[in-house]
Amino acid sequence: MNVTSKLLSVFKVDKQYRGLRSRLSAAEKYLAEQTRLITDIDAKRASIDAQLRQLTATGSNFEGEVKRLDARMATIRDQMNSAQTNKEYKAFLTEVNTIKADRDRQETSALEQMSKAEELRRQVEELQKNRAERERIQAKAISDRDQRAAEIKDKLADLQKERDTLAKELSKETLTVFERLVQTRGDEAMAHIEEADRRRHEYHCGSCMMAIPVEAVNGLLVSGKLTRCASCQCILYIEEELAKSMREPAGKR
Ligand SMILES: [Zn+2]
Repeated sequence: MNVTSKLLSVFKVDKQYRGLRSRLSAAEKYLAEQTRLITDIDAKRASIDAQLRQLTATGSNFEGEVKRLDARMATIRDQMNSAQTNKEYKAFLTEVNTIKADRDRQETSALEQMSKAEELRRQVEELQKNRAERERIQAKAISDRDQRAAEIKDKLADLQKERDTLAKELSKETLTVFERLVQTRGDEAMAHIEEADRRRHEYHCGSCMMAIPVEAVNGLLVSGKLTRCASCQCILYIEEELAKSMREPAGKR
């Protein structure tokens, strides 16, 4: 086997490996997304919990103030009952009215805090429901991921072994060139040569469609030496069928 055929074997095994692995990658990605959504819910929950603590503290301050003002009014009312003069009585009455207005404002504020807290508790309930649902989806995503991993485990190991054996046949330099190409071009790292017109010696790269000089095509045909497309840099090969027909004497075709 020449270097191009050897590379093509590695390329085909790699492609199968990537194809199998991509199904697992999709499952892993989906699982990561579910986990992220749960983290988002937890962050929202933590923020609401903090707001609730704040509201409860403010609310009980207002309530404490209401109680204090109630006690104050009770005291003044007692004093009113023992007022000596009309003037004194009226002064107490004014004070009570002032305190009462203040007390009502405090009570309204306390109620506002309570209703805000109630709304937040409703949101917490909603979040708890969402989280439970999301956890259920996450559990399913974990089992799907595990199942896929188990399904392809043996096949991946076989392909890896096959690849290792094939790679041993290639020089380190050639492998490096090839692997860098796979990193940047993936399934387009290698491309077959397409024949446009044999009589006019017109061939082009199966990946980028740029013309390939006939000398390069012949070099591949004769020795299978490492040949790259000058335009897209991919490693070129000639498919078996085309190679066979090109090797046949012209008269037989
Ligand atoms: Zn090309």
